[in-house]
Amino acid sequence: MRTGAQYLKSLADDRTILLDGARVGNVAQDSAFEGIARTFATMYDEAADPSNGMIYISPETGKEANKVFLIPRSLDDLVERRRAISTWAEISKGFVGRSPDHVGGFLAGFASSPETFDKDDRFFGKNVSRFYRKVVEENLFVTYVIIPPQIDRSVTAHGWSEELLQVGALKEQDGGMVVRGSQMLGTATAISDWLFVSCIKPLTPQDERYALSFVLPLDTQGLKVYCRRPYASSQPSHFDYPLSTRFDETDALIVFDDVFVPWENVFVYRDVDLVRRQFFETAAHVLGNTQAQIRLIAKMKFILGVARRITQVNGTDKIPSVQEKLGDLASLAAIVEGMVLASESTFEMDRNGVARPNPRFLYGFMGLQAELYPRAILLLRELAGGGVIQLPASYRDLTTDLTRADMERYLRSPNTSAEDRVKLFKLAWDIVGSEFAGRHLQYEMFYTGAPFVVKGYAFRNYGYDEALRSAEQFLSSYKLPAILSAK
Ligand SMILES: Cc1cc2nc3c(=O)[nH]c(=O)nc-3n(C[C@H](O)[C@H](O)[C@H](O)COP(=O)(O)OP(=O)(O)OC[C@H]3O[C@@H](n4cnc5c(N)ncnc54)[C@H](O)[C@@H]3O)c2cc1C
Repeated sequence: MRTGAQYLKSLADDRTILLDGARVGNVAQDSAFEGIARTFATMYDEAADPSNGMIYISPETGKEANKVFLIPRSLDDLVERRRAISTWAEISKGFVGRSPDHVGGFLAGFASSPETFDKDDRFFGKNVSRFYRKVVEENLFVTYVIIPPQIDRSVTAHGWSEELLQVGALKEQDGGMVVRGSQMLGTATAISDWLFVSCIKPLTPQDERYALSFVLPLDTQGLKVYCRRPYASSQPSHFDYPLSTRFDETDALIVFDDVFVPWENVFVYRDVDLVRRQFFETAAHVLGNTQAQIRLIAKMKFILGVARRITQVNGTDKIPSVQEKLGDLASLAAIVEGMVLASESTFEMDRNGVARPNPRFLYGFMGLQAELYPRAILLLRELAGGGVIQLPASYRDLTTDLTRADMERYLRSPNTSAEDRVKLFKLAWDIVGSEFAGRHLQYEMFYTGAPFVVKGYAFRNYGYDEALRSAEQFLSSYKLPAILSAK
């Protein structure tokens, strides 16, 4: 299985990563990406180590592979998959959202139903199966861009002032198609191996040229990755920003400057109906988002642990109203975990024999995530008080003769040294207040769609038969009072 060193080495290719008006050389060695690239390398090393239980024999390749890519066909498979995803999530405490298991889940869902991609005279199902086998065999890191750039949300791409602002088919060319335009928002794309490009937002029949689905290696000519401001490079140390420096995946606008895509890398071509069905008719959306929720379990537990620790250090943990806040946070963490376990244990077998986590419970929490994650962050903020601000500018105040004595005297707590206290509160600030923290709030609110879109998933996947039966049964149990006949 691929190791971390092999992954890091593979990043030194001809990819076009643009940052701050310049092209980045080797991303693995650039200060903006170095920390996160090392985090992904650690993930690869953990997966390759048999003692971590992440290896299985893939039925598709007959070889050892990473369980995060498994197509679940039983409850046991779902449990094994969850454990493997959790092992990876623990490395970043859930602060890395687009590790290879995320899009890996979507690709497993596509590959579980390749016939979905065979339509009319186009037989792209074989491309889907071949690419999935490649991902499994080579333990590849695929990221995705499946959202059009914002530009104008009052109409879809065909109604915009210029053609091909959203990525679309420019022309067919010998052996493939040429695409032009852009798509948002490639999280971790700069440090991945391949990019999956499609559109999950509903399109209209006039948007046919934008109804595509394809994959590209990152070093493809004409593929440009425009990264937002990085949060890792400007920080004084890991001690000061322990999350920003290691887990900033970076997000990027992707530009396709007349990029050639060979037919064998195409899954959907100019098909508005299929580009949507690929996500929801196959198990892709459910498997990809189950990964996201398993990751969130790790994050919620971690946030709860930091909150509890802060109250212990500040000596507030015995105060009943503080315990109530911790209880509030504990409820939120338990709900995420409970919903994942509920969706797993009440899985549904689809027509291809794929064990799909029950969408009622999966989307049940996701529908509220845009409210509940900010609430968790607000609770941690409230419990931390000004402790996250009453902090030295950097670790240097703790290590320099001029300032160390005052830091040690005034920044300690009972049974906690100044160093440990500062370390804890700097971590809390990286969860609630740093630029990295702000980006995470946005991430949890939007990563799978705007809140109104995600509530739509919850609406469509609840399964109302039982609920309606219950309401109707009750309503039919009583009637208008009998009118007393007048004598
Ligand atoms: C940190 C981060 C990382 C991301 N990573 C990825 C990634 O790796 N890959 C990827 O493909 N995408 C990624 N995304 C993009 C994400 O999928 C989108 O942000 C999400 O789908 C919402 O789309 P939008 O941002 O265009 O919001 P919009 O659709 O423009 O909506 C913004 C707001 O406008 C209002 N609104 C708009 N339309 C309507 C409507 N019809 N009805 C009611 N209200 C409306 C709502 O208030 C909504 O919240 C990421 C986003 C973030 C924030």
